[in-house]
Order: sequence, then structure tokens, then C-alpha cells
Amino acid sequence: MTQHFIVIGNPIAHSKSPEIHEQFAVQAGIDISYQRQYCPDDAASFTAVIEAFFCGGGVGANVTVPFKQVAYDCCAKRGGLSEHAKTAGAVNTLLLNKALLESGVPITEALYGDNTDGQGLINHIMSMDWPLTNARVALIGAGGAARGVILPLFEAGIGSLTIANRTVSKAADLVNELSAASSVIDDQNIEVCATNELSSSFDIIINATSIGLSGDTLPLDDALNCQYAYDMMYGRPLPFLQHFSARGAQTSEGYGMLIGQAALSFERWTGHTIDVAQATTALNKDR
Ligand code: NDP
Repeated sequence: MTQHFIVIGNPIAHSKSPEIHEQFAVQAGIDISYQRQYCPDDAASFTAVIEAFFCGGGVGANVTVPFKQVAYDCCAKRGGLSEHAKTAGAVNTLLLNKALLESGVPITEALYGDNTDGQGLINHIMSMDWPLTNARVALIGAGGAARGVILPLFEAGIGSLTIANRTVSKAADLVNELSAASSVIDDQNIEVCATNELSSSFDIIINATSIGLSGDTLPLDDALNCQYAYDMMYGRPLPFLQHFSARGAQTSEGYGMLIGQAALSFERWTGHTIDVAQATTALNKDR
């Protein structure tokens, strides 16, 4: 029997999720339909589309810009949130809470939200054998993507985190909020600064800003260096990675994070564990 999935966003035509999940389905040997779902940019439309999808037999939905916070609010009032969704303050994976359904709760009240973005990044970093245990990590950015990766970084055993952002107050607010929300996030091991003040040496530097979309470059101090540099963006030349590659660092764009978060969503929905390396090889042939 075909299992139905969607990715909902606005815009949505560019989404690579259908190709990725179809590749996973081939690997898992199951029959799926995975569609891009456009939705007008308002909470009422999002709720109506999602309710219609799950009431019509849909199994799972990915949520992308601009609906991750709307999806969070929707699940907080209904079927619940995973720890990762709670600390991220955002949902990228929707499913039905089976325990609630079995207890007689209607489908529309059983929507459950998870967030696999941060763990997708961690899994990609680990697949490249970049060392995370006790690592000194710098995270540039304090938006949704940065927020979602902080708990998974501490769960992976990093030693310290420096969060640098253009607007320093946003990074400070983020640390206060997340360290209060999770005992795993240790604010004693977190520092905050402006991006142009980020200096010295780190094991790993992660760019979680959207600056690559604007064509601008980050103001990076000459004394800043690292062994490994990761940019969450993908599919275009990335000055951030060129900067650190020229200084001898190993680098990676965020396409592996995209596949990693998708694999975790797929596993959550279907129970099938994905061999991400194998799927990546197959997907890279078509890029
Ligand atoms: P947000 O809009 O929530 O946050 C944007 C961040 O970028 C903020 O910290 C902002 O700083 C900073 N920023 C934006 N423009 C500039 C600039 N010109 N100079 C310096 N800093 C700037 O975006 P998200 O967190 O949702 O996304 C960030 C990036 O991560 C995007 O490129 C997105 O594509 C990517 N991403 C990749 C994923 C993957 O699977 N590979 C998954 C999710 C996201 P300030 O606070 O000062 O405004």
C-alpha cells in the first residue's frame, strides 16, 4: 500500500525533499508518494492544509520555511513535541501521536512535532569523522537553524561553544533561553560575541547564517582559524568555506545535513533505518 508524505512550504518548488525521500523508499523497498505542498503564508491556511492531509490518510509531513514555528504552535496545543522540537522552538517533521489516537483522540488533535535538523547536522559531521567529543566549537548565527543545533551539539559531547552573531543580544537571549530549557545545555561552557570579534582557534566552525543568500561575506578576523569548517548552506560557491579551505581546514557544505535530517524524518515515519552514505552516493549522481 502506498504511504503518502508531503513537504509543506512557501515557496516550495525548489525543495529537493521529494527526490531524497524517493531514494530512501527505493532503499527501504517500500512504496511511497512524496509531494511538494504549497501553502499560503498564514497560520490558518497551514492548519487547514495539514489537517486535510492527515485526515485523508497522510502518514507524515516535512515542514519548511516559513511554517516551522507555526507547526510548533500547532503541535504544542495538540499531540505534543519532542525534546529537540521544544529546544529548537520549531518543527520540521509532523506525524500522528499513535498513543493519543489509540486513546480515542481525533486525528486533528493528535499532531506531533519533531525536529531532525540539528541531529541531521551532527550525523553528517560524525559520518565525516570530524571529532565532536570535547571539541571547541564556534557557531555563527543565532536564527532558527543555529537554535536547532545547540542541544544536539551538547548531546554529542562537545567541550565548549562560542556563539557569534551580527546581533549579539539575540545570541545572548538564545543562550539564556536554551540553558533554562535543557540541563544538557551548559551555559558555563558557552560564550557569546559579535561575529567580527570571533577570534582564536577552534576545532570546528559552523556557519548557520543566511548570509550566503545575499552574496555578502562574513566579517572574519584574520586570527580566526579552525581544523574543520561547515556551512549549512549548499548548492552554490560558499565564500565562508573558501576562506577556511585556503587556510588548510577541511570543509563541508550542508547538503549532507539536508539528507541527514530527511533520513531521520523517514525513519520516524516508517521505522526503516536509512544507509545515508549509500543514499548520498545515489543522490549525488543526479546533482
Ligand atoms: P534565520 O533567518 O532564522 O537566521 C539568519 C541568521 O543569519 C541570523 O543569525 C542573522 O543574524 C544572520 N544573518 C543574516 N544576514 C546576515 C548578514 N548579512 N550578515 C551577518 N549575519 C547575517 O535563518 P535560519 O537560521 O533558518 O537559516 C540559516 C541558514 O541555514 C540558511 O542559509 C538556511 O538555508 C540554512 N539551513 C540549512 C539546512 C540544511 O539542511 N542544510 C537546514 C536549515 C537551515 P541577525 O540575528 O543579526 O539578523
